Amino acid sequence: MMDQAGPKPTRLLHHEDTGLLAFEATVTAVRPLEHGCEIALDRTAFYTESGGQPADHGVLAGRPVLGLRHEGCVVWHAVTEGGLVPGDVVTGFIDAARRRDHMQQHTGQHILSQAFVREGARNTRGFHLGAEESTIDLDGDKPPSDLCESVATAANDCVLSDRLIRIHEVPREELDRYPLRRDPGAEHEILRLIEIEGWDWSACGGTHAQRTGEVGAIHLLGVEKVRGLWRVRFLAGGRTLRYLSRAHRVLDDTARAHSLRWDGLAEAARAWTAEIAELTREVRRLRAERGEKEAERLFLATKPGSGGVRLLGIWLEDFSDGGRGPLRGDAGPDELRALASRFVASGTAVVLAGCSEGEREVWVAARSAAWTEAAGPPPHAGEWLREWLATRGGKGGGTETFAQGGAPRAMPTRSGSASPGPAPPGSASRDSSTPGLAAPRSDGPGEDAGIFLQKRMSKGLGAAD
Ligand SMILES: [Zn+2]
Repeated sequence: MMDQAGPKPTRLLHHEDTGLLAFEATVTAVRPLEHGCEIALDRTAFYTESGGQPADHGVLAGRPVLGLRHEGCVVWHAVTEGGLVPGDVVTGFIDAARRRDHMQQHTGQHILSQAFVREGARNTRGFHLGAEESTIDLDGDKPPSDLCESVATAANDCVLSDRLIRIHEVPREELDRYPLRRDPGAEHEILRLIEIEGWDWSACGGTHAQRTGEVGAIHLLGVEKVRGLWRVRFLAGGRTLRYLSRAHRVLDDTARAHSLRWDGLAEAARAWTAEIAELTREVRRLRAERGEKEAERLFLATKPGSGGVRLLGIWLEDFSDGGRGPLRGDAGPDELRALASRFVASGTAVVLAGCSEGEREVWVAARSAAWTEAAGPPPHAGEWLREWLATRGGKGGGTETFAQGGAPRAMPTRSGSASPGPAPPGSASRDSSTPGLAAPRSDGPGEDAGIFLQKRMSKGLGAAD
């Protein structure tokens, strides 16, 4: 057991030599954990999470190190098994790839923060070293893209000039002799200063490279506003190489698929976007036109009922493109609206028409604005639609003459004679319509809508008597 004063302070070997990846130390205290134990050492090369940099991984006395914790000046190492006692001499090995990666990101941060000061007078207020990318938080206005470019150039120049990085232990009262980038606060009597020769001075307890060349390329990923500061996302070293290689592979594959060079992709994408917008407008216009033509055909094919009123319940679906490209899917709402409007404009009529749009059903209800007296009181399209959609778990509304709404998509129904999948051209389900136009269904939601109109119409007329 430890004495009342606790174990002696742990000497931090990584503060003296960040290249030290194996060390020997003496166990000064051991305390049990639920699983395994926590060990204090007289000295350690393991870095404990601090100042935005995560802890090292590695092995101590043959056991994986599960966690590291500072308690005052003592570093506690959590390991899997017990069996160690004070006085044991143990060996520690630091996970070299992880340490090297963290040194690249962390030293990259010092270089980058100084570049933002030099190029744009922006101060770093925070730093985070993440598993995928790292960030610094800057004060001031949003750094414009040309500033980010000049910062990236300056930072990479600093890397390529392979400057020496020195560590200095300096008493607090001598701090004003050094051109520190940032006030270190009043926490310690002796401060550890990191000097990047001819570039940057800052107080920091993290692990850093010994020369800037070890940092490798620094790459800025983007800027976003977080809690009033400008967060710059960046990569350094091996992460930059892996990222750029992956990004280039994606660009190159995409470009090849379109028989383009990768640097022509952005221009091509702009052209595609404009073309798609143009095609979409054209498709909507054609759908509306198709809906109007279909309305004219259906009007002639529908026999007038009581009072000379034509009732049409219809479900539009299954056009010829099979769900691909800008023409994808079934008849769109544009077509539905055009069909309903044209149908009721042709004489005294009521329409209840639906189609699918993604996972939803779209429904419109319309009745002729010029309603003949002989047909009785005119129906209210908005109210009828609300009633209809209530039966399908949906909602909608509108005026007396036109209303629109939606409902969750019911399971699609297929006529018994249709084969599974899209119906081939000229199949039974299309026989009643002109090729390429909406086929009135003999089953499913269209028929249900027709029955609803019939019932509602007789109820409405009955109430008026
Ligand atoms: Zn640092």
